[in-house]
Amino acid sequence: MRGDIGMFAWPNGKRAAVSLTFDDARPSQIDRGVPILNAYGARATFYLSPPNIAQRITQWEAAVAAGHEMGNHTLSHPCTGNFPWSRANALEDYTLARMEQELLEASAFICQALGVSPQTFAYPCGQKFIGRGQNTQSYVPLVAKHFLAGRGFKDEALHDPLAGDLAQVMGIDADDQPFERLKVWIDRATQAGGWLVFVAHDVGDFARQAMAADVLDAVCRYCAEPANGIWLDAVAAVAAHIRAAGQT
Ligand SMILES: [Zn+2]
Repeated sequence: MRGDIGMFAWPNGKRAAVSLTFDDARPSQIDRGVPILNAYGARATFYLSPPNIAQRITQWEAAVAAGHEMGNHTLSHPCTGNFPWSRANALEDYTLARMEQELLEASAFICQALGVSPQTFAYPCGQKFIGRGQNTQSYVPLVAKHFLAGRGFKDEALHDPLAGDLAQVMGIDADDQPFERLKVWIDRATQAGGWLVFVAHDVGDFARQAMAADVLDAVCRYCAEPANGIWLDAVAAVAAHIRAAGQT
């Protein structure tokens, strides 16, 4: 019988894993986020929207050199057409073949621009389907085929390294929240022995979809404190550890 989440062995006696992820290659991630992460020696994962990286290309190259992971977030960021900005590029109108092209072309772009091949993926808007009605299909199998892991968004639980599927890693919304709210999640992860994956967008003083710079600093400081028993690392590193332990 499978044991509880706390039975999974994290490296070096750590009690939980935490990954910080940032989506869409927004310039504030480079301008405000990376300097804070680097100050703590923290490796994060950036799920890049290729059209955005040209704005800060030399800084993205430096982020790669600093050890941050560059992940795939599709080429054109298709989401449900219920978002007005995605109506002309709606998942409801996609095929699996078109989605596979999105994944492959985004990886090729990132490889050409930054010299690294994405190992993990983040579902735009956290949505995992194409088509509509009886013709709806999941594109999770495509992500499983091409990537070590696929990260969701606005999920409601920690990722359980024993029960969870690496093609659907749980992603917890970390935008627009004070440190105390995020600390509740971190402490929950150490109590359960789970993997907490935070998802943020901008870094700094934005009206919405942003992690405040002082909140990111506080999260990094808390996770770096040895007494807290946290393994803070990029999604690919944690997923590779889980896979090596025999979990998928
Ligand atoms: Zn996105």
